[in-house]
Amino acid sequence: MSSFSNLQLAPSLARAVAEMGYESMTPIQAQAIPVVLAGQDVMGAAQTGTGKTAAFSLPLLQRMLRHENSSTSPARHPVRALVLLPTRELADQVAQQIKLYAKYTQLRSTVVFGGMDMKPQTLELKRGVEVLVATPGRLLDHIEAKNAVLNQVEYVVLDEADRMLDIGFLPDLQRILSYLPKQRTTLLFSATFSPEIKRLAGSYLQDPVTIEVARPNETASTVAQHFYSVSDDDKRRALRQVLNNNGLKQAFVFVNSKLGCARLARSLERDGLKTAALHGDKSQDERLKALDAFKRGEVDLLVCTDVAARGLDIKDVPAVFNFDVPFNAEDYVHRIGRTGRAGASGLAATFVSGSDQRLISDIEKLIKKKIELEAVEFEDERPRGRFNSGRRAWAEDDPRDVAESSSSSSASRDSGGRGGRGRPAAPPADPFFNKPYEPPVRAEDTPAASWEAAQSKSLRSVSANIKTKRKVAALFKSDEPVGHD
Ligand code: AMP
Repeated sequence: MSSFSNLQLAPSLARAVAEMGYESMTPIQAQAIPVVLAGQDVMGAAQTGTGKTAAFSLPLLQRMLRHENSSTSPARHPVRALVLLPTRELADQVAQQIKLYAKYTQLRSTVVFGGMDMKPQTLELKRGVEVLVATPGRLLDHIEAKNAVLNQVEYVVLDEADRMLDIGFLPDLQRILSYLPKQRTTLLFSATFSPEIKRLAGSYLQDPVTIEVARPNETASTVAQHFYSVSDDDKRRALRQVLNNNGLKQAFVFVNSKLGCARLARSLERDGLKTAALHGDKSQDERLKALDAFKRGEVDLLVCTDVAARGLDIKDVPAVFNFDVPFNAEDYVHRIGRTGRAGASGLAATFVSGSDQRLISDIEKLIKKKIELEAVEFEDERPRGRFNSGRRAWAEDDPRDVAESSSSSSASRDSGGRGGRGRPAAPPADPFFNKPYEPPVRAEDTPAASWEAAQSKSLRSVSANIKTKRKVAALFKSDEPVGHD
């Protein structure tokens, strides 16, 4: 792996990198940093977790050092770099990282996103900042209020561009980009290069260098993927059944709309499951609280939309349910990437109803696997006395076997009846599923790449708003077929 010392970063930046504990560059860094230093536009296929923030911010900061000054005049600190992200969480995460990299420089940075009072953001902007991290909507508010002037911007980063388009930010992006000087460097990062992304790049990037570090459309082999044919009316019952069959206590449940999210969370709560909803209408504070409760094991099911879940630094959930089949096949990959940690298995259960055929064939094409639909066998419909005590063979042997097991063949379910809250009466035999969710920094159970060990050290100094990550080492190897956020 290449070392940061080959880059000849300015001492102030090199010092910050050393303090972060990074030893070697991740693949996206090794490929993107020299290109950005050379002033070229970049179109990068890389996701959160690959080290892409440093990949764009270190070379941008290096190039901006020529503007560094200690003047207190705001006029001497115009916005020179603009980083746009789709969600508050991501914007906050990226801004915190940039602050750390710029710590020994005199370059100023700040972040603006919605859901927060504009006043403190306005004060920061008026003081002058060289690096502005923002979500599009709030940035436009500040532009309209004349708090942010963008006519001296030299660098623009469109981060998680696919997600920004999914959310419908294209008109906002177009407006923002129209305020910027034509002469600039533009970097675009996206999990996938869909036709829309290519069109966006075609309009706003000049001869970009394409960099791809992980093929994002493949799923981890440790995730057991099951597709159940279920009518809409039976989905809740099916959810409880699959949880029971697998002795699962916690899961993410994905739905396609905010409204559906709130409704489902309420119904599941009525069914006796401890549930929290995570969607775009929830305040930042509510989202963080829900997440913390889930991590502490106080919440069983986190019902969420793709937008709200994106960028949440939470992985290694025992199971992910696609209560709705996602509209975008890529979202399927993102969603199930939350489970199936290195060395252990995860379960991804997708409920397919009559109208989902086209979406399922999109997923089939993307993951390049034939999807077989299974039936959920409901306990209350099964003839009594036909099954044994219902302990899963795999659970007694090796929890990883679940990756190969098919739950449709589950003569395996716990017929011991359920408690009032829809949970298995007998304790699950598998210690992995028996544990409450653990926060993800556990370097010891991942075959860590050197950068990973360094990263967990560096994260201790990061804002309380940033949740620490466990990285899948394979993400950093450009030749490995794993890539999910
Ligand atoms: P990102 O993909 O930018 O969200 O980065 C994910 C995490 O990787 C962040 O916590 C960074 O601090 C960390 N990181 C970035 N680059 C490196 C590196 N070269 N070595 C170790 N950790 C890194």
